[in-house]
Amino acid sequence: MAKGKLSIAIVGAGMGGLAVAATLRRAGIAVQVYEQAPRFARIGAGIQMMPNSMKVLRGIDVEEKLRQTSFQPYSHLNREGDTGKVMRELPMPESLFGAPYLCMHRADLHDALLSAVPEEIIHLDKKLVGLEQSAGQVTMVFADSTRARADAVIGADGVHSVVRDIIIGPDEPIHKGRIAYRAVFPSTLLNGGDIGASRTKWWGADRHIVIYYTTPTRSEAYFVTSVPEPAEWLTRESWSAKGDVKELRKAYEGFHPDVRAVLEACPDCHKWAILEREPLPKWSEGRVALLGDACHPMTPYMAQGAATAIEDAAILARCLAEVGGEDIEKAFHRYEAHRKPRTSRIQAISSANTWMKGGSDDTTWLYGYDAWNVPLTPTEPHVEAV
Ligand SMILES: Cc1cc2nc3c(=O)[nH]c(=O)nc-3n(C[C@H](O)[C@H](O)[C@H](O)COP(=O)(O)OP(=O)(O)OC[C@H]3O[C@@H](n4cnc5c(N)ncnc54)[C@H](O)[C@@H]3O)c2cc1C
Repeated sequence: MAKGKLSIAIVGAGMGGLAVAATLRRAGIAVQVYEQAPRFARIGAGIQMMPNSMKVLRGIDVEEKLRQTSFQPYSHLNREGDTGKVMRELPMPESLFGAPYLCMHRADLHDALLSAVPEEIIHLDKKLVGLEQSAGQVTMVFADSTRARADAVIGADGVHSVVRDIIIGPDEPIHKGRIAYRAVFPSTLLNGGDIGASRTKWWGADRHIVIYYTTPTRSEAYFVTSVPEPAEWLTRESWSAKGDVKELRKAYEGFHPDVRAVLEACPDCHKWAILEREPLPKWSEGRVALLGDACHPMTPYMAQGAATAIEDAAILARCLAEVGGEDIEKAFHRYEAHRKPRTSRIQAISSANTWMKGGSDDTTWLYGYDAWNVPLTPTEPHVEAV
């Protein structure tokens, strides 16, 4: 595709927005990114990148950067919350799925994605409030009353997506009364304690906690929980809401001493509402399409929310490259046809919170997926061959 032939605007500079900015540029498409935040803050949280998303990140040249800032766990380890008995362990050597499994600070992933695109294409303090489509162009309207135009728009604006509201209609995400406490803190606070070489999920009857290191030197420890919240608690901007560390410790009183030691060591914590949605009826309208949490938000229980947003980015770029900038709507339909069955399946398993709880089901369909090379699903099977 000739560079500059097609111009695409991306709303949202989160994990999905930055990833798709990089994959579209790789396909020779001109891109501008509009982000509501006035600056990027270092949100205290960890994130796991599984081999399926690491393959996409390799293609946009951020793998090496991430290796330098991340912890590479030995395995995906699942243990009973109280006894510590191993329920399922999946060692994750790179050779298993052709890419590493890395655990990192969320801000290090964001920084790495930022480094994959030129600074000048990112426009901060641009909160989208309206969209108009006419004559093969999309006009974006921002809260500061400015406007910008592009041949197409990608809504990568997260679980509370304004783009989704505009093209599909407003509704509220599903909140099943569960919250996630989280904290990143220096490992020195563990007083010599070690959380182990694996990423460990400790399963209780109605709650769990996931614990891992986020740096190669194990200098930072991270945990994230899922616990029932008695009161209906939901914030629109939940990244910065503080949690009560005493309440958190109480919620895990019956857990294994290794878990309690981590919670005793953590000085404070934040909390998130855990939100999800049923699969949407459609992912695009005309020249506007959705990506990531904007179209398939899921519970974090499979660690696949950002990963699937990053996969979307590779598939969308491939679909757009295939039409050579000509039939954008067709490319958007093909993208949805390819992605929706996979993301809907992941949304459903994440919602049920059964992934790796036990058993020995094959995980290759999830971690072995290679978004750069998987055959694209035809939009109309009777017309096109794969
Ligand atoms: C507790 C927890 C743990 C998680 N752990 C993992 C994990 O280990 N692995 C994993 O893969 N995923 C994980 N996730 C999921 C992951 O965080 C999300 O799926 C991912 O951030 C989605 O990326 P996104 O780009 O779609 O949305 P976001 O990252 O939410 O980015 C959206 C961006 O759009 C901007 N924006 C919003 N509205 C507007 C507007 N109107 N105009 C302009 N900009 C706008 C926002 O400011 C933001 O920058 C976890 C989630 C939670 C809650």
